[in-house]
Amino acid sequence: MNKLIFMMCCTVSVAMAQELPRDVPVPGGIAVIPLGEDPASAPQVWYGDNRVLVVSTDGLWHAIVGIPLSAEPGDQAVAVRYADATENRYTFRVEPKEYAAQHITLSNKRQVNPSARDLRRIERENKRMRAVFAHYDARAVDQAIFEQPADGEISGTFGLRRFFNGEPRQPHSGVDFAAPVGTPVRAPADATVVLTGNFFFNGLSIFLDHGQGVISMMNHLSRIDVRDGQAVTRGEVIGAVGATGRATGPHLHWTLSLNNARVDPLLFLPPMPEPATPDTTPMQMGE
Ligand code: ZN
Repeated sequence: MNKLIFMMCCTVSVAMAQELPRDVPVPGGIAVIPLGEDPASAPQVWYGDNRVLVVSTDGLWHAIVGIPLSAEPGDQAVAVRYADATENRYTFRVEPKEYAAQHITLSNKRQVNPSARDLRRIERENKRMRAVFAHYDARAVDQAIFEQPADGEISGTFGLRRFFNGEPRQPHSGVDFAAPVGTPVRAPADATVVLTGNFFFNGLSIFLDHGQGVISMMNHLSRIDVRDGQAVTRGEVIGAVGATGRATGPHLHWTLSLNNARVDPLLFLPPMPEPATPDTTPMQMGE
């Protein structure tokens, strides 16, 4: 009888278990913080002024905290408010991380040093983008592991300290997948389309709100297949890879933002397979 109860218990817990993103508490990473057992409703969590993603797995609530690239290593805290109005603070330690430098040469000088008119356009666009990233929608999030939004090799990792024609610019805010123009771009998780448009640096872009402050931005598209306000499901084609905006070749740039902090999107994907070794790769010598 004990054995039967044990088996039933485990079957149920496996069925309900939700996989969580990886706990990598560095600037540009995420902290996964267990908050305790399931009460009637999810606790509310704040990191500074921003609401934090809270998901349930195995009967435990977890806060998934986005750590901005600008965060200083050391102890940080989130404030937690439970359904019964009790409050608590959880601390976590941000470890240091050094990101590599990347030097990019652009023949279009206007994309390195935009004109005054371009700068006004860029500022207008930045304002719209900042509003999207700061948005918080309280709906439940039941998919904390995402799907890769386009097939292709990673051609640019998150956090690279970038230099355009030798001049330092903002660090790389997402991950790049190299793929031919026209490769389908898919929603990495269920979402609402909250903004589409053609942006000076980002080209044709789609912003997806996955709920609870989790926002995806897809850039440099050749085509947009969705409209503002449209609901999309995980895996649905929303557009196609291109090279619009400031791009040296066709690729998908994917930014992922949590609690208004841009983080490494790969932490939300299943672990990538190890690079194939020569022993397992079909050999194409001489081609
Ligand atoms: Zn990129």
